[in-house]
Amino acid sequence: MNIGFIGLGNMGGPMAANLAAAGHSVTSFDVAGTTANGVSAAASAVEAATGADIVITMLPNGAILRSVANEVIPVMDANAVLLDCSTVDVESTRAVAEQCAAANVLAMDAPVSGGVGGASGGTLTFMVGGSDEAFAKASPLFEIMGQKAVHCGPSGNGQAAKICNNMILGATMIATCESFALADKLGLDRQKMFDVVSTSSGYSWSMNAYCPAPGVGPTTPADNNYEPGFAADLMLKDLRLAQEAAIGANADTPMGALAQALYAQFVEDEDGSGKDFSAMLPKFEKSDRP
Ligand code: NAD
Repeated sequence: MNIGFIGLGNMGGPMAANLAAAGHSVTSFDVAGTTANGVSAAASAVEAATGADIVITMLPNGAILRSVANEVIPVMDANAVLLDCSTVDVESTRAVAEQCAAANVLAMDAPVSGGVGGASGGTLTFMVGGSDEAFAKASPLFEIMGQKAVHCGPSGNGQAAKICNNMILGATMIATCESFALADKLGLDRQKMFDVVSTSSGYSWSMNAYCPAPGVGPTTPADNNYEPGFAADLMLKDLRLAQEAAIGANADTPMGALAQALYAQFVEDEDGSGKDFSAMLPKFEKSDRP
């Protein structure tokens, strides 16, 4: 396939390289001038999108997605696919999808989970919104860039799945961290706490697969001085998107709101920026009950 790839940052770079390594012809554009192995660089987003069967975007936010979409949709072929893999607000995704429909371009939102490791290793999970036709066209690319793609429904549903998942993740990580800090103060050994919780009803991905306590459970960012991994800043971004969506949909999400407030405090008022999102544990270790 002829693929246009726009946004070759930490995630987009390795994803584009994997598509090229699998034999696809990939033409890329990034405002920062970044490229990737096996990919040919275009001078603009329009040039990267012209003649492409699929245009993939991997961009920082919804405003940038909308501006790139404004540029590329008019030059895309009828029935080509605009596949956005960024994590953005549901409203921007649905606005871009409407613009695509008006131009006979197929829109898909396919945010990912799996981080930079998953992007390099081709093991991402895609949460996909869009038509069956678009999903069928993009499926061979999901197989190269990832290990799983779940078609969640029409446009916007991929983003909806992503923010719901990450709202659970943010809340369970906080719960796991504050429980370890409580266990410390009660004199309960962290390894014993892990042994019990990881096999009891308090178990979760945060405890079992991404344990925030150094030296306990599997090797995680906690064992590497909380270098990300998944940065607290990105968790804050996703929790904000979840709250925006909850307000728009009139959904009651008190835990999500509190998780957003705690990550905002950690990232913006404390020392959390640039650390892994599991560094909530040293935060709670240091703090006393208000
Ligand atoms: P990044 O900042 O490393 O990459 C974004 C790239 O987009 C940059 O290279 C930037 O120069 C480029 N860009 C910005 N404006 C542009 C424009 N107008 N035209 C062309 N290129 C432009 O970010 P990332 O970590 O690669 O994340 C990308 C997306 O994936 C984000 O939406 C993020 O929330 C999501 N995501 C990231 C992770 C992660 O672990 N990094 C995990 C899951 C999802």
